[in-house]
Amino acid sequence: MVDCAIIGGGIVGLATAVALSRRDSGLRIIVLEKEPGLARHQTGRNSGVIHSGIYYKPGSFKARFAREGSRSMVEFCREHRIKHAVCGKVIVATQESELPLLDQLFQRGLANELPATKLVAEQVREIEPHVRCLGGIKVPTTGIVDYKEVCTKFADLVRERGGTVITGARVVGIGEVNGTHRIETTRGGFEARFLINCAGLHSDRVARLAGLQPQARIVPFRGEYYELVPEKRHLVNTLIYPVPNPAFPFLGVHFTKMIDGSVHAGPNAVLALKREGYHKTSFNLRDFLETMTYGGFWKLARKNLDEGLMEILRSLSKTAFIRSLQRLIPEVQPDDVVPTHAGVRAQALMPDGNLVDDFLILRGRNSCHVCNAPSPAATASLEIGRTVAEQVPDLRTRTTVAT
Ligand SMILES: Cc1cc2nc3c(=O)[nH]c(=O)nc-3n(C[C@H](O)[C@H](O)[C@H](O)COP(=O)(O)OP(=O)(O)OC[C@H]3O[C@@H](n4cnc5c(N)ncnc54)[C@H](O)[C@@H]3O)c2cc1C
Repeated sequence: MVDCAIIGGGIVGLATAVALSRRDSGLRIIVLEKEPGLARHQTGRNSGVIHSGIYYKPGSFKARFAREGSRSMVEFCREHRIKHAVCGKVIVATQESELPLLDQLFQRGLANELPATKLVAEQVREIEPHVRCLGGIKVPTTGIVDYKEVCTKFADLVRERGGTVITGARVVGIGEVNGTHRIETTRGGFEARFLINCAGLHSDRVARLAGLQPQARIVPFRGEYYELVPEKRHLVNTLIYPVPNPAFPFLGVHFTKMIDGSVHAGPNAVLALKREGYHKTSFNLRDFLETMTYGGFWKLARKNLDEGLMEILRSLSKTAFIRSLQRLIPEVQPDDVVPTHAGVRAQALMPDGNLVDDFLILRGRNSCHVCNAPSPAATASLEIGRTVAEQVPDLRTRTTVAT
């Protein structure tokens, strides 16, 4: 019997294990991960950006946690000698119609207490000489890191403090007897007094396994990347973002300097027909039917028809993808980029067709479920982990927590 079982060896599950083991070094914790290694899904397939928090609604968890996370993640990397850089980023308006949106974004940055500055086109070019734009915003607190390395360190810390991380253990059943969870996995059964669900793309299913009925369902959106060929990496010094469409939850394809020196372009955002499907042809009947029979999905699709079609076009046609990149850097040519990895975002969607905008943490009986942790959850993982850990009662006194 362990005190706490955490399902999911992505950055949120591991950060939660770190926070719990920090709070109470005597706690018996296990992390159960279905893959043979850690961080194989969203965490290991993202843009590697330490977000500053400029985009998010003031007062939301996302805004607060990204601002705090951009500091704490950098401190964590410094303390544990994880390679990272606080290189800053620019967000640029390339059309007249985007200037009012750029201004709104700048005001949001100020409301979120970020040290953002407005730039005229010449000032943008001093930072990014190949960008053509009408104006921009500089956010100096944005950084880059490899979140897989952060996860390796998180797992080391958990083990050093007596916790156990078990890979290859897919949770297939959860029962409850006298307030104790019985967790069935592909590597045997475990008993836990408290259960934490950080299962990312499967978080809604794991919540249902544990007897919860979350209103929102996870809808997977694949994000595909291209990479600049080495001879063209000089076109990008830091991170270059367009002004995002405020009606759409994703940031638009952008250029990201990665911590290994490569430069990635993307991601787009297309509906994935498989929750962990990283190729255009990836398909899973159960995942597909769950999305297609969900009323919330069709309401979302109707509201975002134009953007959705544009994303599909950008996925199917390299020319369309390049056109989006050329809005930022006109001299990028089709031969300058090659396809690289893809990631799939777990986005919770409500039955009324509204995307769950903020991080969502639900409570069950002796359990806690992270049911929406999209970007910037990697940046904010230490904050999310601490918040989830606060939901766990003092397990040395055998309290049962009611829903
Ligand atoms: C394309 C893309 C770009 C992004 N860019 C950024 C960025 O630049 N900066 C940023 O801050 N955020 C970014 N994000 C968001 C960020 O990566 C995620 O918010 C974060 O990784 C979520 O972590 P997680 O631990 O919740 O999920 P995951 O990393 O997906 O981990 C969940 C884990 O649970 C495991 N699991 C699921 N079901 C079970 C089960 N039944 N039994 C056992 N284990 C199970 C999975 O195998 C997986 O390892 C991006 C995301 C994507 C997809």
